[in-house]
Order: sequence, then structure tokens, then C-alpha cells
Amino acid sequence: MRRVLKQKKRIVVKVGTSSLSYPNGRLNFQRIANLAFILSALRNKELEIILVSSGAIGVGAGRIGMIEKPADLATKQALAAIGQAELIKIYQKFFEEYNQIVAQVLLTKDIVTIAERHENARNTLLNLLKMGIIPIINENDTISTYEIGYGGNFGDNDTLSANVATLVDADLLILLSDIDGLYSADPKKQKGAEIIHSVEAITPELEKLATGTGTSFGTGGMITKISAAKICLEAGIDTVITNGSDPSIIFSILEGKEIGTHFVARKDKVILNNYQA
Ligand code: GLU
Repeated sequence: MRRVLKQKKRIVVKVGTSSLSYPNGRLNFQRIANLAFILSALRNKELEIILVSSGAIGVGAGRIGMIEKPADLATKQALAAIGQAELIKIYQKFFEEYNQIVAQVLLTKDIVTIAERHENARNTLLNLLKMGIIPIINENDTISTYEIGYGGNFGDNDTLSANVATLVDADLLILLSDIDGLYSADPKKQKGAEIIHSVEAITPELEKLATGTGTSFGTGGMITKISAAKICLEAGIDTVITNGSDPSIIFSILEGKEIGTHFVARKDKVILNNYQA
């Protein structure tokens, strides 16, 4: 099964707040530097890379010295605006080290519900890829409020990344998380819990294994990761959920090593395109 991952060319990598920062909200520069190194190295091998990055709220909070995630929407949005600028500045600095140009793209769910916006976003991203640039995507938290707790949009960056993968016809989605993959039981509660390395269909039983929500400044959890994998499976795109504490794990995944949970897509089973209107 894993051999198929060696052939992947267009890859969406999603990194969560917990992988980018320490629990106190401060940025983990070493990890961001490693991520920039790995993704730039993959670009040199002529792979096409899109990074979907969370962390705007967390970084914004860290920047102004706020320790806990605020409950009210407007403050979260303000923090996201502060943090997004900061986050891109830091990404640019690290990617620059490897001579890699990045671009900021902020999206809303309009890319799956409004045909013109679907087309515009697709054209922009495909052109950036053609230019050899790594787009760094987040949801536009100023107007797209469900993601951070209210309203009607993607809901979280796991879902956003799956929709981006289908938007650009990606070959693979890699979800970097703070957990090694999907387990047969809750590894914190059950000693014998084992990682499930390969999944071919998302059954209700499997969905029941996914518990837990995100960390203090993040939004997702295993539930949103499984639904992201489901969107990709239905579109014929493989997904791997793995631990992002060492981003070089991406190399091992692309070498076909049995790491994390691989949701194996079957091209002959594709039933929908991500444009829903
Ligand atoms: N867009 C938000 C951020 O960048 C939250 C994303 C998420 O945790 O899924 O902070």
C-alpha cells in the first residue's frame, strides 16, 4: 500500500497550532525552521507543495502576551489578524534561508460553494505551483468565523486542507498532528492501543475511534482529521495522519515507510468533486 506514496507529486501539508508552538503559545522556531527546510528540499526534487498552516490565533496571542484563548469571537479574530501577519513574516524568513519563495493565500468556504470563487482560487493556486512557489494557506478568520467557533464556514483547518487538496487535484494530503496517527483505542487510557497503519474505508466503527478536540489555541482534533480524510478518499486522494513533532517524517512517508495512518484512496471509487453548488 505504502509504495504508492513514493509516486506522489502534488502534496498538501497541513500543520496545526500544536505543531508550531509550545503550550504557552510561543512559537517553536526550531520546528518551523525544520518544516521550511523539508518543504524547500521537496521543492528542489520538483514536487509541488502547498502548506496549510494554522497558528494565527496562537501566534497573535503569544505576540501580545495573552496566555489563554479568549472566548469572544471579535478578540479571536483580532488575534488571528495580528498572528497571521507575524506567522507569514516568520515563514518568509525561514523559507528565504533555502531560497524558496512563499505566497500567502487566505480562503473561505466560498471556494466550495461559489463557482467563480472556486475557479479563481484554483487558478491562483495552480499558477503559484507552476511558478515554483509554495502557497501558505489559512482561513480568512476576519470574515470566516465558523472555524474559530461561530457562523458558517469550513470549521477547522483540517477540513480546509482537504478542500484545498480536492481544489487543486492533489495526490496526497499530509496532516501533521500532535498524535502519531489513528489508534485502535485511546492510547492515553488503554495500554494495548495500537496505531492503525492503513485504512481503506471510513466506517462508523472507525469514526467512533476518533475522539478528542484540539489543543488550547487550535481547533481540530482526530474527528476533524477523519472527516478531512473522508473528503479526500471520496475524491481519490490519499491522506496520511502523522506526528508533526519532527517534520522530516515527511521524507520517510514519501519513501513509503509505514508511519502514521494512511487512508488509501482508490481512483476507481471517486464519487465527488469538491465543488458542491
Ligand atoms: N485559522 C485559525 C488559526 O490560524 C484556527 C485554525 C485551526 O486550528 O484549525 O489560528
